[in-house]
Amino acid sequence: MADIPPWFAEGELVAVLTTQPLDRTLDYRAPEGGVALGAFVQVPLGPRQVIGVVWGTGQGGFDLKKARAITRVLDVAPMQEEMQDFIVRAADYTLTPLPAMLRLATRAPGLSDPPSMRKVYRLGDATPDRLTDARTRVLAVLEDFGGAAFTLKELADAAGVSSSVVKGLAAQDAVREEEAPRDTPYPRLDPGLPGKPLTESQASAAESLRAGIASGRYGTTLLRGVTGSGKTEVYLEAVAACLAQGRQALVLLPEIALSAEFLSRVERRFGARPAEWHSGVTMTERRRAWKMVGQGGAQLVVGARSALFLPFQDLGLIVVDEEHDSSYKQEDGVLYNARDMAVLRASLAQAQVVLASATPSLETWVNAKAGKYARIDMTDRFGDAILPDMRAIDMRDEDLPHGRWISPTLKQAVHARMEAGEQALLFLNRRGFAPLTLCRACGHQLECTHCSARLVEHRFLKRLMCHQCGEEYPIPDTCPSCEVEGKLAAIGPGVERLTEEAMEVFPEARIATLSSDLFSSARALKQAVETIATGGADIIVGTQLVAKGHNFPLLTLVGVIDADLGLHGSDMRAAERTFQLMRQVSGRAGRADRPGQALLQTFQPDHPVIRAILSGEEESFWNAEAQAREAAGMPPFGRMAGIVLSSEKEADAFAVGAALARNNAPLLRAGAMVYGPAAAPIARVRGWHRVRMLVKAPKGVALQRALSEWIDGVRLPRNFRLSVDIDPQSFY
Ligand code: ADP
Ligand code: ZN
Repeated sequence: MADIPPWFAEGELVAVLTTQPLDRTLDYRAPEGGVALGAFVQVPLGPRQVIGVVWGTGQGGFDLKKARAITRVLDVAPMQEEMQDFIVRAADYTLTPLPAMLRLATRAPGLSDPPSMRKVYRLGDATPDRLTDARTRVLAVLEDFGGAAFTLKELADAAGVSSSVVKGLAAQDAVREEEAPRDTPYPRLDPGLPGKPLTESQASAAESLRAGIASGRYGTTLLRGVTGSGKTEVYLEAVAACLAQGRQALVLLPEIALSAEFLSRVERRFGARPAEWHSGVTMTERRRAWKMVGQGGAQLVVGARSALFLPFQDLGLIVVDEEHDSSYKQEDGVLYNARDMAVLRASLAQAQVVLASATPSLETWVNAKAGKYARIDMTDRFGDAILPDMRAIDMRDEDLPHGRWISPTLKQAVHARMEAGEQALLFLNRRGFAPLTLCRACGHQLECTHCSARLVEHRFLKRLMCHQCGEEYPIPDTCPSCEVEGKLAAIGPGVERLTEEAMEVFPEARIATLSSDLFSSARALKQAVETIATGGADIIVGTQLVAKGHNFPLLTLVGVIDADLGLHGSDMRAAERTFQLMRQVSGRAGRADRPGQALLQTFQPDHPVIRAILSGEEESFWNAEAQAREAAGMPPFGRMAGIVLSSEKEADAFAVGAALARNNAPLLRAGAMVYGPAAAPIARVRGWHRVRMLVKAPKGVALQRALSEWIDGVRLPRNFRLSVDIDPQSFY
């Protein structure tokens, strides 16, 4: 790109990439005053005005007199060439059209609005006619903060006066009223503030990360350490080093709603709050974050996966915390894995990546082993906390009536903890009351009418719910198939049912249930978590929601109700997921200074995954898992792409699938194989029929190019969707 002029004079022809679904850039004339490469602009498209980015020199090749001019250059920082590069490469990798990728990178409201202003207040020159108590307080606040500007509300609140007092002072010029841009820079973070004194192993880990930052180059490090070993403490040192260099940093977290604790931790470390980017952020704040990241007015962003597409000016570090978490993979719209895209972006920006996890993904483990990533291991927990003692409860030996899930052994262990004034967690990774509702008269299973998914009973909400599309149904009295009354039965356990059982088994206990659909907001969840953390419950019944980052100091026993759940999936990652989840959940126990215990109820205590979890021999688990995948040519040793064909007409989906299977020459030429078409495990979603195909190729094959050629060779009917998922994580 180096030979593209960075500036286009008025009237010059430029190529503009818009966010509209077109397969090419459009040519426009540079407006009066010229325009920079990368500038965000508004351009006419037919009768409309749309947003775009000046992508390069115009293509020409048509009647140049017809070229229209750019309407307006937006008041935001131009896109850096490196970001353009990132968008192009990410689009190529994920086989996403460029406009869709650009939309991902411009997801902030009001970018095309003219700069909006608001009133702010500073210390004025005049002395007020009379100094009341309230007025003195206002002036004192302004003097205290030097030249700082306040909004009316901020100033009134800080001084503890009504806003009319401020207005009164402004009328006399004792306070100066000014117009200032609404989107203001974030408060400065101070990387010079001292962090916590680090232990020896933490200090050496921090030192390696700092050395990476000092290099000013790209590099990825796997920071592996058990839960509670201080990984966060360590990577905040890398953030400090990055900020001290004057570069920006990004910390990605999986479940951003749960990060209130994290944000206050950052604030304590650096003296101010970072910019936030996630679904819970207001539209105003979103726009501010987007603009400030682009102008350098935000040093640190803490965000969910899409924060990766913010227009950083000088990104020096990306931390991907809990890098193994499956929520980094976006499963609809643009299908990308934020962990992998973080590595791509960092390599273009000469930035460092830190992948932090107690249980890294196999991909990362393999990359570290191959020397592509550096690896730091932190084996000790901070302070006196030790890893819990882990044991299996062999369910074949337990005397448990049908429809019950808490074994006598587990029951006894929970009682012992309660007597000691400690907490126990009963873990079951299944939302709702029961995963299946069956008619005992005819055997009919209740299913969603739009999807081929089973309906899950949610007894607290008194509804049946489709976990696929979210549709809710009343719980019927009669079977919709045979119309016999009173024969519908809930089969299998969900957390709600487990709560019911726990209330019977432990009548004296205070029981709290943590499951995502029981909380209407992140705030309600946070409240519940705090109550539990301070001892407001004896027993926690929870889904994987509890596995993520909460600290329950009184929790010393984890009972995993069904450790076998997840071992049987057809998913190649089933073992890996089970392993990670069990380790993480078990890691919840005894986090503070009390030793913990984890009990895994299983019918297969000799299953290799269960054995690896119990023995704690992670390296041997990963080695075995890696060998199995390598033997099968599965990622990360081979390449895979999932194709989903969906249509309102089932026949169309299969017909396109068959055509693709026939015209497989481009794939075969590249050395790839195609499997399918076959009905997807969830064959219908929201009324659309789904058919899957799977493409497998050896490593090193230019898979994307082969895929594009293959897909371009087949004509799609109307109302048809074809999506390509590179490195698929799920196969539903
Ligand atoms: P991880 O990210 O590996 O789970 P954290 O960084 O969250 O671990 O550390 C676990 C707990 O121990 C936190 O409450 C943290 O503040 C505390 N901690 C870790 N290292 C130190 C240290 N060197 N000094 C004081 N507290 C620490
Ligand atoms: Zn449904």
